[in-house]
Amino acid sequence: MFKKGSKLYSILTGTCPKCHEESMFKNKNPYILSEALSMHETCSNCGTKYKIEPSFFYGSMYVSYPVGIAFATAAFVISFFVFKASLSVVFVSIVGTLIVFMPVILRLSRNIWINFFMHYDKSLAKKP
Ligand SMILES: [Zn+2]
Repeated sequence: MFKKGSKLYSILTGTCPKCHEESMFKNKNPYILSEALSMHETCSNCGTKYKIEPSFFYGSMYVSYPVGIAFATAAFVISFFVFKASLSVVFVSIVGTLIVFMPVILRLSRNIWINFFMHYDKSLAKKP
């Protein structure tokens, strides 16, 4: 399931949605906040233009909402059921989780969003 050619691979690694060969982001580390969202214009391997229309990635805001809920739910389950924390502590842990994982959530949403519109093309991938 987690192999080149599956959407999950492109979403989790942030690679080009068409060839899965190169990262879309200029810096692989999302925690360098000044570069968290700076992306290449095109894929250097297959030439795919990532921003297929102006302000294309504004649409990833729709995706970041459910992705954020997934992180918040995980924080709730871990702090409430595993650590048996009180509700106020649970609340703080959810807010903290959303703040700490914000760069990851933003990138994941962009990866999911672009994978709605582009699909893997085996002919564009590098030949071994
Ligand atoms: Zn590519």
